[in-house]
Amino acid sequence: MSELTLADVYRARQRIKGRVVATPLVQSMALSRIAGVPVYLKLETVQPTGSFKLRGATNALAQLAEQGCKRVVTASTGNHGRAVAHAARALGMEAAVCMSSLVPKNKVDAVDALGARVVISGKSQDDAQVEAQRLVREEGYAYVPPFDDPRVIAGQATIGLEILETLPDASTIIVPLSGGGLFSGVAFAAKCVRPDIAMIGVSMERGAAMHASLAAGKPIFVDELETLADSLGGGIGLDNRHTFSMTRELIDHVVLLDEVSIARGIVHAYREERLVIEGAAAVGIAAVLDRAVETRGTNPIVIVISGCNIDIDAHRRLIGA
Ligand SMILES: *Cc1c(COP(=O)(O)O)cnc(C)c1O
Repeated sequence: MSELTLADVYRARQRIKGRVVATPLVQSMALSRIAGVPVYLKLETVQPTGSFKLRGATNALAQLAEQGCKRVVTASTGNHGRAVAHAARALGMEAAVCMSSLVPKNKVDAVDALGARVVISGKSQDDAQVEAQRLVREEGYAYVPPFDDPRVIAGQATIGLEILETLPDASTIIVPLSGGGLFSGVAFAAKCVRPDIAMIGVSMERGAAMHASLAAGKPIFVDELETLADSLGGGIGLDNRHTFSMTRELIDHVVLLDEVSIARGIVHAYREERLVIEGAAAVGIAAVLDRAVETRGTNPIVIVISGCNIDIDAHRRLIGA
């Protein structure tokens, strides 16, 4: 297990206060009807960068800033890259985001618009990663990992505190699962406060690296495949130090979803909840629609809605508009 403590999570909350939104927890009447118990949605979609990743990034960067560090780097072009760029600007730090020349222009522009230095290198994510490590070695940048880092995990864990403060009798929390930073954090905080709570992780069938690693008993490589839940793609790292062991210890059940179910989750969110959400954020709703989650008595279920950064044309096609 990791060295993370509940005190670290409370300190993270103090550190990110005012920079990150304490998000709403809203009952879904449609999903409550379907599940037969109250179902609540934790809306990380309202964070200024459109995903929960701002919590972990802000907690990590604030600690680096306290230590006098002024430059941070990451190789993520997705929600983590946005979060690092945003948090760096808010804290008066310089951020570099390394990406390959194959990254689409809209993603490059999004990072650029947040004031980060875009560093294009090579033709793959691995090349971008190598360049990030070079900036660490040669230009004094601090690397900020997307999930496998106690500071990042503690930031994501603040979601667990917020949920149980608002809804102390929740029986189950459903969390999208990729590298496991979100899951480890939320599960750690929730089980510290309420050891009997059920923690469900949801991934897509296509390239579920954490699920495959849990089954193998160690971090393993899984081919990355195209999926509607694109923010859940990618491996957990063969040298994973924190999130694999934490997830293994804290998880009660994994649900895997096919692409049709994920699409149904996105469409349900739009039609019934009036929410535009990305595929990775729709997996919890989809798991409930698929009746893949057991209820316990009449106690509420909470679904973490992790982000809203979906290509708006892709979204329009999915909802048939
Ligand atoms: C990163 C991300 C996830 C998964 O988080 P992990 O910590 O990698 O498991 C889920 N949803 C969204 C929207 C994300 O950006």
